[in-house]
Amino acid sequence: MPAMLQLIEHIIRISSKRDRTEITAALVDAMQDLFNPRAFAVYRCYPGLKQSIVFRCAGLDANGTFTHNAYLPERRHCHPIDENPLLLRCQSEGGIVRETSASGSDRLVFPIVADERAIYMIEISLPAEFPADRRVLLMGLVEYFGHHISLLDYGEADSLTGLANRKTFDKHLFEILGQTASDEHRQNSAAPCRRRGGNNLHHWLAICDVDHFKRINDVHGHLTGDTVLILLAQLMRDSFRYDDQLFRFGGEEFIIVLQPASEENAARAFERFRTSVQEHSFVDIGQVTLSVGYCRLLADDTPTRIIDRADAALYWAKRNGRNRVACYDTLATAGALLARRQ
Ligand code: GH3
Ligand code: MG
Ligand code: MG
Repeated sequence: MPAMLQLIEHIIRISSKRDRTEITAALVDAMQDLFNPRAFAVYRCYPGLKQSIVFRCAGLDANGTFTHNAYLPERRHCHPIDENPLLLRCQSEGGIVRETSASGSDRLVFPIVADERAIYMIEISLPAEFPADRRVLLMGLVEYFGHHISLLDYGEADSLTGLANRKTFDKHLFEILGQTASDEHRQNSAAPCRRRGGNNLHHWLAICDVDHFKRINDVHGHLTGDTVLILLAQLMRDSFRYDDQLFRFGGEEFIIVLQPASEENAARAFERFRTSVQEHSFVDIGQVTLSVGYCRLLADDTPTRIIDRADAALYWAKRNGRNRVACYDTLATAGALLARRQ
């Protein structure tokens, strides 16, 4: 089949997908089928306060093609961007970068940019003799992939805060529950001595609700209220790790899903966020606080049950002075939970 027809076929396949993991897998297929590169990798970029992290989510290496769940960046496939100087150069220059190895092969990195920052990077190694016309086709495919992913990003983000939106939350939670169930199954079937420290690492979900937000709107106006929400989202990004999932759940409620952590570390992470908000001075307003209710995700959980538990803890925090963090599991053990809020 002529190369152009093959390219169109692959573009149709990529464009039919709405799931990040499936889209990147379709790109890997297209790259291998059309260009047979020596190596190829798709990186999702997570900007950080100190350093950016890249998640090697799909590609082709000496062992063949690979695809990881693009919604759940596993730490073993993530690394600081400065461990790969060519990616770092691509990030700082904001354009395609190229390196020619001693053997004559070309390593290229393409950035996929949205809102002036690289959201993905594509690394590809080609033989030196790779023809110029095929290079043009390859760049067209990468550019197309970039547009598709940017559109997906746009649809998944909350327009005010830029955090993932409510619709995206449902999808992420579904992916995480699948992972929780398979982790638990693996651990249960492993020999007892090989279980990770008795497996005390779990996913944790927190709901955060701004305290007396109506008052902020009433006294300072809705626009100031909106600014508070934008700043809270920023404080959230600064407070949590790149692989924790942050969502605007609705109104002035946010959801955080932590990567597997011990009970102690989860409590510390949520408390750190609550403190960072309490200590921030909001222009014209001064102090804003929020209450947090969180719970552990269980293998056989449903989204409704999880939200109900976190919400019960949040309600307890609101009833017990606000500006505090409450854990459902601890409260339930202590028999301290009140009837649910409506
Ligand atoms: P509590 O401490 O009990 O949470 O008190 P509260 O005043 O925060 O009460 P509640 O959480 O019920 O109030 C939510 C308010 O948030 C009501 C609504 O006007 C406001 N709100 C919801 N979405 C937005 C938004 O996008 N922008 C602004 N400015 N306000 C919003
Ligand atoms: Mg509320
Ligand atoms: Mg509130």
